[in-house]
Amino acid sequence: MTFWDENAETLPRDKLEELQVKRLKDTVARCRKSIFYRNRFKDVDESRFRKPEDVALLPFTTKNDLRMNYDFGLVTVPRDEIVRMHSSSGTTGKATVIFHTRRDIETWSDLVARCIVMTGANKADVFQNIISYGMFTGGLGLHYGAEKVGMLTIPSGVGNTKRQIQLMKDFNTTVFHATPSYILYVSEVMVQEGYDPKEFDLRIGFVGAEPHSEQTRQRIEDIYDIDAFNSYGMSELNGPGVAFECEEKNGMHFWEDQYLLEVVNPQTGEKLAPGEEGELVVTTLGREAMPIIRYRTGDLARIVDDGDKCACGRTHVRISRIKGRCDDMLIVRGVNLYPSQIEDVLMSFPEVATNYQILVEREGALDSLTVKVELYPKMFDGDLRKLKKLESDITKTIQEDIVVRPKVEFHEPGSLPRTEGKAVRVIDTRGEM
Ligand code: ADP
Ligand code: ZN
Repeated sequence: MTFWDENAETLPRDKLEELQVKRLKDTVARCRKSIFYRNRFKDVDESRFRKPEDVALLPFTTKNDLRMNYDFGLVTVPRDEIVRMHSSSGTTGKATVIFHTRRDIETWSDLVARCIVMTGANKADVFQNIISYGMFTGGLGLHYGAEKVGMLTIPSGVGNTKRQIQLMKDFNTTVFHATPSYILYVSEVMVQEGYDPKEFDLRIGFVGAEPHSEQTRQRIEDIYDIDAFNSYGMSELNGPGVAFECEEKNGMHFWEDQYLLEVVNPQTGEKLAPGEEGELVVTTLGREAMPIIRYRTGDLARIVDDGDKCACGRTHVRISRIKGRCDDMLIVRGVNLYPSQIEDVLMSFPEVATNYQILVEREGALDSLTVKVELYPKMFDGDLRKLKKLESDITKTIQEDIVVRPKVEFHEPGSLPRTEGKAVRVIDTRGEM
C-alpha cells in the first residue's frame, strides 16, 4: 500500500475535523479581503466556530455569484501574486473564471498526485493525458499531478484519434486520463484500424469530467483489460483532484483536509442525513487566491455510509458516483429521471456499442422519449428477429427502471454525433416553438 502523503491521507477523524475547523476560520478571515465576501461576512464571528458543521452558519455561494462578480470579485490577493487563470467548460451557461497563486497550484498538484498514487499508478508509468488542455482544468490539472509523481507525461490532449493510438503504441502508454465517452470511441477506432484494444500496455485509466455509470466503467475495463478509476472535480474547486477512487473502487475519497463537504436538499438547501442523496456543497479550506465558501456544485451524489473505514486505510469520506447535475433531471410524462439511469440499462446489453442519445419531444399533449443506440456491426447481419427481440428487451428493461416506455431506435456504429469534450447525451426539443 503506498501513499503520496500518508500523514494527511490517514489522519484520524478527530484530528481531521480539528484541522477543518482551524482552516475554515482562516478561510473566512481571508475571504474578507475580497470585494464579494467582505460585505457578506460583516456580521459573522468565525472565532465561535467549534465544529465543521458550523460552516452552515455561512451563506451559500452560487455559480451566479461567480458570474456576477466576474472577473476579480472573489480574489483575496494582490494581482501580482496570481500565476494562473482557469475557466469552467461553460456546460450550463456563461463560463466562470478561477485564479490561483503559486502555492494554490502546488496544493492542487499535490492533491492530484495523491489521487494518482492511490490507484496504484507510479513514477514508472507512462501517462497519456487524453483530455483538453487550455482553460479547461482537466488537462493541466492531471498534467501537473502526474509530473509531480514523476510519470513520463504525454500531453496528447484530445482529438486526432489515430495519432493517440500511435502514441500509445510507440511509447507504451500504461496509464491514460480521458472522458469515458471519448475513450470508448478510441477503442472503436482501434478496432477499425485492426488493433485489439487489449494488446496495448495500458493498465490503468482515469475517467471523469462527465457522468457515467458503473456499467460504463466495466465496459471500459473489459474492452481494454485495465482498471478504471472515477475522477471528480470542477474548475471552481481547482479541477480534478477533489475526489477520486482508490483501489477498492467503492466510492471516491473526498479530500477533506482541503475541502469541507456538505450534502443538502437541492430544493431547500437543508442538510441531509449521511447516506441520503443530494447536492454537494463544498468549501475550500486551503485556497489562497480565490477561496469559496459553501459552493453549490449542482452535482448530485451521496456519502458512502457503510460504517466501515476504507480498506485502503484512508480516513477521508467517500462519495458515490455523480448521478448528474440537478439540472440534468428530465421530467417526462410527470416522471423524474436522469440520463445516467438509461445509460446504466444500455451498457448492460453486450450488443449495445458505446454511443447513445436520448431525445425528448412533445407529440401533441404527450412527451415522447426516444433512445437512439449504436449497436456493434455484428448485429446488422440481416437477422431481423434478433434485432426485434433486442429492441423489446431494452424497451422493457428501461421501462421497468424508469416507468416511462421509450421508443428504442438502432443505429450503426459511428452514426450518432460525438463530441471530443463532454458528451451531449440529451436533446430536449420541448421548450422550442
Ligand atoms: P462545467 O460546469 O462548465 O462543465 P467544469 O469543466 O469545471 O465546468 O466541469 C465540472 C463538472 O463536470 C462537475 O460539476 C460535474 O457536473 C461534472 N463532472 C466532473 N467529474 C465528474 C465525474 N467523475 N462524474 C460525473 N460528473 C463529473
Ligand atoms: Zn480507500
